[in-house]
Amino acid sequence: MVRLTFYGGINEIGGNKILLEDGEWRLFLDFGFPYKRHKLFYEEYLKPRSGAGLLDPLTMGLLPPLEGLYRDDLVTPGLWQRFQDIPTYRRLDRVDGVLLSHAHLDHSGHISFIKDSVPVYTTAVTAFIAKAIQDSGKSDFDQQVCYFSPTTRERPTGWQQIAHLTSSNTPKEQRQFCLADVTPEALSPEAKEFWNWGFWEKTTRQRGLVSCPLSSHTQCSFDLRCFPVDHSIPGACAWAIETSSGWIIYSGDLRLHGKRAGLTRGFIEQVAKLHPKALIIEGTNAQREANVSEQEVYENGLKAVSGAKSLVIADFSARDVDRLLTFLQIARDTGRKLAILPRDAYLLKTVRLLEPEIPDIAHDDNIVIYQETVASRSPNIWLRNIYDEYDSKIVLAEDVSTAQDQFILCFSFFDLNELPSMRPRAGSLYVYSSSEPHDEEQEIDFRRLHEWLKHFGLRGIGLPVESDGEWQIPDGEKGLHASGHASGSDLLEIARQINPEVLIPVHSEHPDFYSEHLSGEVNVILPDVGGTIEL
Ligand SMILES: [Zn+2]
Repeated sequence: MVRLTFYGGINEIGGNKILLEDGEWRLFLDFGFPYKRHKLFYEEYLKPRSGAGLLDPLTMGLLPPLEGLYRDDLVTPGLWQRFQDIPTYRRLDRVDGVLLSHAHLDHSGHISFIKDSVPVYTTAVTAFIAKAIQDSGKSDFDQQVCYFSPTTRERPTGWQQIAHLTSSNTPKEQRQFCLADVTPEALSPEAKEFWNWGFWEKTTRQRGLVSCPLSSHTQCSFDLRCFPVDHSIPGACAWAIETSSGWIIYSGDLRLHGKRAGLTRGFIEQVAKLHPKALIIEGTNAQREANVSEQEVYENGLKAVSGAKSLVIADFSARDVDRLLTFLQIARDTGRKLAILPRDAYLLKTVRLLEPEIPDIAHDDNIVIYQETVASRSPNIWLRNIYDEYDSKIVLAEDVSTAQDQFILCFSFFDLNELPSMRPRAGSLYVYSSSEPHDEEQEIDFRRLHEWLKHFGLRGIGLPVESDGEWQIPDGEKGLHASGHASGSDLLEIARQINPEVLIPVHSEHPDFYSEHLSGEVNVILPDVGGTIEL
């Protein structure tokens, strides 16, 4: 019998943590960061204490109490005694791997806590993006997906005698990633070098990339298949797992209206032939009837930017490489340069190691790199390398300020601090090409964003505005963002074509959408948080 237990991703968008058990074999389908629950308790200046290891995330219900699954170095004395009475408590001494669908942190973040002996199976692009995000990010202890510094338990005396963990100066350990779509031997020397970058000291535990033993049955009793799909980040995949009860399909996040829709169509076609027992499918946009396409974003963006007399700021997630390329094309078509931030340059350079059709920053006349005005005297090594490698491509606030009609700046809300150094002139434009606010904290940020624009006399386009407590993009300014998730009608099409015996919705605030629309066609089962479905 196969058991599926849903520790996250139920009635929420993201935080997927699904345990699949078949006899003694166990796999997790994603192990994501639960943003919604995290934000209930925490914010920028109130975060789980890294020195308390697993205590905070377990106590606050951010992690399931599964003894044996997590890194030993994060276990404080007496930790598990506190959780043994919780109904979802279990000992899990053996887990054979995590199947990771893509590098968005709501799917990957909490891999940080899992024992490093548990391998992560994913695509090469996802592994590389996960590392680029970690190399160039703040890397809080609960988002260290690819590597971490194990903590040591200090045994101080006197007033310092509180149980706490510290990770200063301990050697970094790399997690084992198993690539599902590329043999590591086939990677270029530059790509291999990127994976090992940052692990120079002899004391570090380096783990090279290995192939995923797909279908080989050598390390895993499951027959696994990995299908590339289209989503708002490159490298996304869906999984098919052959179990003793039949094939189980896990969609990850996907869409049918993006530039790589053909990948999603190929996935649907191939898994339909497996006559799956179960389909675990996302439902982020279940209630949306139709989606804007990337081509429409290009057309609307081009129209808006063409009409701008001075500076243009484009606000979108740079991890959405398709969007970055859309704005690069708009920059070309309007005779401007796309100024990206160093971390976006690092990501683009990383994806290019695996997808050579991605533009080369060094040789693309329309890409420059914006260096923040108050840069640190001793930048991180990755950042220094970017400045060195693309020395001739660096622009400063002054360069932008004196030639405002020559640039499209790729900024988000969190980069607005650069505006005082730039003083946008009349006729400047802020193009909002990102998702709408989903929670109160983001609504507060939107209010601030509107104030910034008002203060600097920037015209905003595509920005949600509040009316009667609802945040909506004004009619006539829509069509500047293409979602990473399939619309309701596309989701139903995907479900009907795959035609599983059982459909299990996850990653959705409206899971009953499927039972409402597919009754009489497919058996839809709505799982509870921490609940188990037996197949
Ligand atoms: Zn995603």
